[in-house]
Amino acid sequence: MSKKALMVIDMLRDFIEPDGRLYIGTTAKNVVEAVGREIEKARSCQWPIIYVCDTHSEDDSEFRMFPSHCVMGTPGADVVDELKPHPGDKIIPKRRYSAFFQTDLDLTLRELDIDEIVLVGVCTNICNLYTAADARMLNYKVTALRDCMSSFDEAAHEFALKEMEQTLGVTVV
Ligand SMILES: [Zn+2]
Repeated sequence: MSKKALMVIDMLRDFIEPDGRLYIGTTAKNVVEAVGREIEKARSCQWPIIYVCDTHSEDDSEFRMFPSHCVMGTPGADVVDELKPHPGDKIIPKRRYSAFFQTDLDLTLRELDIDEIVLVGVCTNICNLYTAADARMLNYKVTALRDCMSSFDEAAHEFALKEMEQTLGVTVV
């Protein structure tokens, strides 16, 4: 039987709050509520909950493409108040789109014997898509929860879900 973990991507103030540095837009509110429900479900099923959090240095080269955001130690890099991690949840900082790129994530999942990831968070076409891709390359099963994802670009959101499903073999529900 597969062992699942809930992976919560970038539910951070700079993306989710209207005054954040890289606010994804008005869909953020619904995503917070939907992700909150999934976190509660995961806790009741005793699945591990893994928060993956954009954590940039001040002069991160990603800021050549995007405005500065989620700088380490700033309030914008914090998980939103509604979804705060509990003691025992895992927190994985990342600097790039993929949660697997030069992070502790793969080792953390292996230590927990996880072989299936349930993916929620933002943005669908950026961190979620590239995390799903790397997870599939590493043979993890992945389920993506459509209502728990969003992007500042609606067309890119839809494209990414289709790409996950049709190219990567992700179960999109
Ligand atoms: Zn970033």
